[in-house]
Formats: sequence, C-alpha cells, structure tokens
Amino acid sequence: MRKEVLSMKLIANGMKGTADVLPSESYQWQFVEDIMTGQAASYGFKEIRTPVFEHTELFNRSVGDTTDVVQKEMYTFTTKGGESVTLRPEGTAGAARAMLEHGVYNDGYPIKVYYLTSCYRYEKPQKGRQREFHQFGMEVYGAASYFADAEVICAAKSIFDRLGVQNLSLELNSIGCKNCRPKYHNALKEYFEGSKDQLCDTCLSRLDRNPMRILDCKNPECAEVAAKAPTVLDYICDDCREHFDGVKNCLEAADISYTVNPHIVRGLDYYTRTVFEFVSGDIGAQGTVCGGGRYDGLIEELGGQPTPSLGFGMGIERLLLLLESQKIEIPAPPVCDLYIAGMGDAAKMKAFQLVEGVRNSSLIAQGDIVGRGLKAQMKYADKIKAKFSMVIGDNELAENKAKIRNMVSGKETEVPLDENFFDSFFSIYVDSTSAQLIEQFGDFGNE
Ligand code: ATP
Ligand code: MG
Repeated sequence: MRKEVLSMKLIANGMKGTADVLPSESYQWQFVEDIMTGQAASYGFKEIRTPVFEHTELFNRSVGDTTDVVQKEMYTFTTKGGESVTLRPEGTAGAARAMLEHGVYNDGYPIKVYYLTSCYRYEKPQKGRQREFHQFGMEVYGAASYFADAEVICAAKSIFDRLGVQNLSLELNSIGCKNCRPKYHNALKEYFEGSKDQLCDTCLSRLDRNPMRILDCKNPECAEVAAKAPTVLDYICDDCREHFDGVKNCLEAADISYTVNPHIVRGLDYYTRTVFEFVSGDIGAQGTVCGGGRYDGLIEELGGQPTPSLGFGMGIERLLLLLESQKIEIPAPPVCDLYIAGMGDAAKMKAFQLVEGVRNSSLIAQGDIVGRGLKAQMKYADKIKAKFSMVIGDNELAENKAKIRNMVSGKETEVPLDENFFDSFFSIYVDSTSAQLIEQFGDFGNE
C-alpha cells in the first residue's frame, strides 16, 4: 500500500529542477522565441537541430573535463547497448559535431547557425537555475575577424533591444589564445599555490591542469582568493590584444556600451580570446542571461581542420524572469475572432461547418464542442474574448441569414449563411480592424 502511494506521488509530480510551460503562459515563450529567430534571420543565420543525447566523449572533449559541467553536472548514463550517453548540457558541442559530420563547411565559410534547445545539468535548483532549461544560441564557424565577434554580440543585444529589456551590462574580456595562455596559467598557478589552504577540493584539482577554472568557482572562499589573482589582460599577446581592440572599436561604432571585466572567464573550456556576458542585477544571484565567446580551438579538438569559431548561449528562463521583473508585458495572442453558437442539432451542425470554413480562411473561429446550451456558449465566448459572435437557431436556418455581433461595440450586422458568408464576415472583420488601427495611430490615408 505504502509503495503504491509513493508511486502515485512520483507519477503526479514533475521532477525536481524541471518546469512545465502551461497553456496560459506558453505564448510568452513563443513571443520571445519569435523575436530570437527573427533577429537570427536578419543576421543571416539558419536553424540547426541536433539530438538531445550524444556520446559522452563529445562533451568531455569540447566542454572540457576540468569544468563544473563535466565534473559535476552532466546527465550521463549507460544504454542497454553499453554505450555512455549524455543529455546535452549546452548547444555548442552538438552543433559543431553535426557541422563536421555532415561536411557543412564544404558550402564555404562563414557558416552561421542558431538553435533553440533544452539543456540538462544536474545542479541545485534555485531561482534562475534548473536541471532542464532552455537556450537560444548562435554559432559562427570559419570567421577569424573581430567583426564576427562584434556581429555576434550585436545579434544578442538586438534581441534584448527588441524585447525592451533595460539595465543589462555587457561584460567583456579576452582570455588569450594557445600561445599566450600558458604564460598566464603559470602566473595563476604561482599565485594560487600561495593560498592553497583556502581553495576547495575541486579547485585544488584544477590547480595543475586548468587554474583559470578557479576564477569561475562559486565557492565564496575561492572567490575571495580569485579576486586578487593576476588578470589575464596583462598577459595576452599582441595578436590577441589587437583582436580585442578591434572588437571594442566595433562595439563603439555600433553604439553598444560595455565594461571590460577581466574576471569573466566563462564556464566552458573551449573559449579563446573574446568572452562576454550580458548580466542583469534584476533577477537575483543568477544574473547572467547570456554568455558566449570565441572558441578557435574547438573544431580542431573535435577532429576537424582549424576553424576559428564563436557563439553564445542565452538562457530563456532567465530572460523571461528578467522580462517579468522589468514588468515588460507580452501581448497575449487572440484565441477567437468569431464564436458561432448553435441552438438545436441542425443549427449546431451548420455552426460546425461555418467554423471550419472561417478557419480555412486563416482567421480564428470556435464553436461549441462541450455540449453547452446557448447561454453558456455566449458566456464562454465572452470568457475567451471572442471579437465577434454569431448565433444560429431555427429562425436563422430558415431565413438563411444571421447577425454577427461585434463583442466590444455591440454593433450587429446581418450576413447571409450561404457561400457569401465568409466574404461578408471578412469585410466586417477588416472594417473593424482598420477602424481600430485608425483610432490607435490616426488616419494617414486621409491626411
Ligand atoms: P552560471 O554561471 O549561471 O552557472 P554558466 O556559465 O554555467 O552559467 P553557460 O554554460 O554559459 O552558463 O550557459 C549559457 C546561459 O544558459 C547562461 O548564461 C544562463 O542564462 C543559462 N543557464 C545556464 N545554466 C542554467 C541553469 N541551470 N538553469 C537555467 N539557465 C541556465
Ligand atoms: Mg553553470
């Protein structure tokens, strides 16, 4: 018995760190996603879709086995066939794998792709941090110039701008390349060796292999030591500095303000040169809404030709939190242009036919599918904010005409129920929509 109660509980509750997007809120996701894909299109990016799971080795290699993601957060399991498989913790690795596997680069560089994906990380759930979350990401392959860095940053910024998001700070840094990074690693190692007793176990293990990771540790004691560590910008080579200056100049030309923050190193191993984050102070501790940068070594690491590349990931849940905290209203889309109520079996059948016809003309129509009486049908039409309604009963059937009622103004217009019905309704619909626009924006045509 107890076992059964427990199993019902498991069935009735979603898993910790996951969230459902309910019908009453999904329009907000669609609105944000439409802006993301629209902006991606205007920057010349095409969508890529890759599987939820990949060989574990792909993420060990690309994300990097000294990172938090690989060391602690991956959903890894062994399949019935004995393979080690991981649910994607981010979108970059899968996109790069697909690009290489299918020889997409044969079409010539640059390749520009975007994705909207779910990601999986076994983290401690809290505000802005889930175990299943969603990212919008953009990636560019085969682009070495600093114009590419600037383009990608502008693209991310354009999404925030289109949404009307305020007070986001763009934090920018360069973390050098494979030529200058070793020098910085040595300096960091030397520095952290002196404060070994304050570092957590994970950071101690990073000391030899990847001391830069320590700068990203969320443990407060490690963060305190890291705050005074040597800064990477004192160590980058002339080429990296020139590249970084180029990025900054482009951002200035695009009128995008930024703060150089030498503590931004990003959580994933594959970054080189430019790294950036868009950070908000309005959504609590998890304030990074978007993070990205250049990863010139990744494609080679995955077995491809050296291919300078870059991209970013934007957390959709955090972005929605931000919109909510800044009280940015997302307009709820209409669910009904015309509600047709029927009284009696024959009238209900007619209503059903007409509703189908209106839908074919791409307006939104609804009729009764619950079995309600007339009064309840009209109450429902009110509830779903139908713009127009129409009632068909025996009289309307006999006369082959009915009245369409504008639910806001109350104005009624007679329409035939024959083959001219759709044209008649359509012209009523268009008239009222243009009257509304004129009220809102003025009558340009007659000025
Ligand atoms: P954080 O420092 O917050 O852990 P991260 O460096 O691990 O972030 P990235 O791997 O760069 O994050 O992912 C890009 C974006 O995805 C983040 O900026 C954030 O908006 C979002 N994100 C990352 N992890 C989560 C999560 N567990 N839940 C919700 N959103 C997340
Ligand atoms: Mg993280």
